[in-house]
Amino acid sequence: MLLDQIHRPTVAEIDLDALAFNLRSVRSFVGDRVSYMAVVKANAYGHGAVECAKRLEADDADWFAVALPEEGIELRSSGIKKPILCLGSFWPGQEQALFDHDLTPVIFGLDAAVSLDRHAAGHRARKNVHIKIDTGMGRVGVPWQESNEFAKALASLSNLNVQGLMTHFAAADDLSQNDFTNLQIARFNRVVEEFSANGFTPEFIDLANSPAAVAHPESHGNMVRLGGVLYGLGGDVLPAGIDKPELRSVMSVSTQIALVKRVSAGETLGYGRTYTTTRESVIGTIPIGYHDGFRRSLSNVAGVIVNGMIAPVVGRISMDWTMIDLTDIPGAAIGDKVILIGSENGLSVRAEDLAGMAGTISYEITCGISSRVPRVFVPR
Ligand SMILES: *Cc1c(COP(=O)(O)O)cnc(C)c1O
Repeated sequence: MLLDQIHRPTVAEIDLDALAFNLRSVRSFVGDRVSYMAVVKANAYGHGAVECAKRLEADDADWFAVALPEEGIELRSSGIKKPILCLGSFWPGQEQALFDHDLTPVIFGLDAAVSLDRHAAGHRARKNVHIKIDTGMGRVGVPWQESNEFAKALASLSNLNVQGLMTHFAAADDLSQNDFTNLQIARFNRVVEEFSANGFTPEFIDLANSPAAVAHPESHGNMVRLGGVLYGLGGDVLPAGIDKPELRSVMSVSTQIALVKRVSAGETLGYGRTYTTTRESVIGTIPIGYHDGFRRSLSNVAGVIVNGMIAPVVGRISMDWTMIDLTDIPGAAIGDKVILIGSENGLSVRAEDLAGMAGTISYEITCGISSRVPRVFVPR
């Protein structure tokens, strides 16, 4: 065995069957009239882009989306054949890579369009691009008020093919902001008409991210772009109280107890001495810390599962180590499995739960499980 394959017991297990289940589940909920783009940017939200894309390709995802061309190249190098959209467009100098690796960029600026058109001139086929319209997200995209002008400018770039027209919602997960979501849809529909008036009839018209795909059927267009729901992260990014597809968590994170000790009442634990034992206690130390993505803000707040019971995190989570209170878990011993994200014996700690405690969303929790934590894919 290579030395770098012998590692501490801290791992993130990625359940590829759950991933495939989630795609099927959303597909049967949303229907077969749309294409399915699997968003695998940011290393598939921390789950491992290559392995996830391979499984999703085998399970009939129609498209993949990444943020950066670099991420698209990684997928192509590992044999992914389905079309890949680069949501974050491309940077000057990356044009040739889009041709070399058959990547489709999102375009939201004229400079990028002109540059790509020039590069495309030497190629036989026109280069497919998807145009992103900003209908209210306020981040990237052609401002919807300027889309007519943009379409006219595009019309003179004969080496580009506008294959897709898209927008992105700011608050599709929040039903109290439905008026704004509907306004974004109305603005986008107008832009589609303007493009049509300028001679563009894109093959793909897409608006919906995970929450919109589930909660806003009127936003489906003919393709939905799914990230979070594929990874089973519906608990915090889907609106509460609506019908939704069944989802299964894909990532679980576990380690083993490295050390167990008895500590008298009145002792303090860890940096800053933020926890004081109130009784004679059994304290376990586990090899995971904030560098691994077990966030420091979970100190004295989160719990982990040991032998089918919850053990509270006590004291500050440090860079490489965390302490847990095993006093109420008789027999807990060195080497016992510790579940930080996952379920056992009817108990579960979801990424969504940790996110709630840490003041963030589940995406940031799974993205934050660092590369120091090996991903173990099942089934192998
Ligand atoms: C990340 C992203 C998505 C996926 O969003 P989810 O909420 O994870 O489904 C869709 N569209 C765009 C443009 C994105 O950047």
